[in-house]
Amino acid sequence: MQGLPIAIVGAGTAGLASAILLSRQGYNVRVLERVEQLQPVGAGILLQPSGLAVLQRLGLLAECTALGAPVSRLYGTSCQGRVILDTRYHHWQPGSFGLGIHRGVLMTALLQAAQRAGVRVETGVTVKRFEQGATHIRLWREDPSGDEQPVGDFAALILADGTRSTLRAQMQVRQWARPYPWGALWSMLPTPPGAESRDLRQWYRGCREMFGLMPTGSTHQARDTALTSLFWSLPLSEHDACREAGLEAWKARVRALAGEAAEPYLQQLHDPAQLTLAAYADVRMQRWHEGRVLAIGDCAHAMSPQLGQGANMALVDAAALADALGDAAEPQSLDWDARFAHYGDMRRDHLRYYRQASRLLTPLFQSNSNLLAVMRDIALLLARHNRFGRQHAVSTLVGARNGWLWSGAQRRELHVWTGERVAWEEVSRV
Ligand SMILES: Cc1cc2nc3c(=O)[nH]c(=O)nc-3n(C[C@H](O)[C@H](O)[C@H](O)COP(=O)(O)OP(=O)(O)OC[C@H]3O[C@@H](n4cnc5c(N)ncnc54)[C@H](O)[C@@H]3O)c2cc1C
Repeated sequence: MQGLPIAIVGAGTAGLASAILLSRQGYNVRVLERVEQLQPVGAGILLQPSGLAVLQRLGLLAECTALGAPVSRLYGTSCQGRVILDTRYHHWQPGSFGLGIHRGVLMTALLQAAQRAGVRVETGVTVKRFEQGATHIRLWREDPSGDEQPVGDFAALILADGTRSTLRAQMQVRQWARPYPWGALWSMLPTPPGAESRDLRQWYRGCREMFGLMPTGSTHQARDTALTSLFWSLPLSEHDACREAGLEAWKARVRALAGEAAEPYLQQLHDPAQLTLAAYADVRMQRWHEGRVLAIGDCAHAMSPQLGQGANMALVDAAALADALGDAAEPQSLDWDARFAHYGDMRRDHLRYYRQASRLLTPLFQSNSNLLAVMRDIALLLARHNRFGRQHAVSTLVGARNGWLWSGAQRRELHVWTGERVAWEEVSRV
């Protein structure tokens, strides 16, 4: 379908997944990305069954599962060895799993699929502003001298430019972006022989300290090297002091918390530059669209990675957007405002629940409160030992809840997000 193209700003998970689906549905799509050269870099992420269902729809599940590492449970203990968290995927569906994956693997798979689908991915383009007219939307970019240059006219604009979007504020929509005071140091290291696991393992000292190890699989470049992602949670205000104290002082804290299990990983860390600091923010918008503009992914609803849902939400957004727009019609004749409002209706309950759950749970794992630590340990103990609690925890983990009390139709919802084209059972069999 020719006519004015749809512009997608940002070649991250949300932008590329949307571009692939919309291009396959006959839309003319241009992706505009500020980074000159898209490289397979980034942290390890945990994809949940909801995100895997969308990968199946994209035709990328086999490629991603071949390189990623299956995760069967989330298992966390206190520094005294007391079990705090034990959430098992098979309590949700027999055979289901999370997939630990290098972000670069996901991005490579998405980028190649976008190119195969005929999407025009233009890199080195920093979009600076947009202007909506009655029949189109006009975009401007920043050139190297800092001046503005027109990018062109588009039928609609999808903002997928991440948590720190500079374009979101140009929408006439009430919005809040609140940085979290806590972040994480992370690194990705070869898994030592004998340390292979299907657990995402965490150790806690109250809510103040957390160390985690997540199986992350391998990469397109080094298929035979299994990797593990290592995470250490810390208040951002303590990062400088932690760096000044030196790597050995930090290792001593990790050893005191996680003991021998951490040792083979700590031995591979020789330089503080091997640890990268990640900071996150909470983004909320009153609605996600205004006329011909729609915000998706982290730009629309960034949350802390405590629940491991950000990339999943970005994938589910893409599937919902493709369903809301349907097969390509003449772009000029589409009522974009109505289509984007329909998208908002499809995503509202799911995103509200995960935003609330993420805001509620994050301080239980990242704060200085002794009281919250005690409350968390009691609540998780009770939840582990009754069926309702286990179901609630695991249905939250897999990305399938639409509310605090109601989760009766998760299977149907998974089908809805993926356009009724993927049966849940197909995903859980992989
Ligand atoms: C340490 C850490 C661990 C995480 N772990 C998990 C996990 O286990 N599971 C999970 O599901 N999620 C996890 N996440 C979250 C996940 O990474 C994000 O939610 C997801 O990547 C969001 O994708 P996105 O496409 O919305 O944004 P992004 O991936 O941020 O992509 C935005 C893109 O837009 C581009 N851009 C920005 N501004 C402009 C502009 N003006 N013009 C052109 N291009 C622009 C950027 O260069 C970027 O490529 C984690 C995040 C962190 C930080």
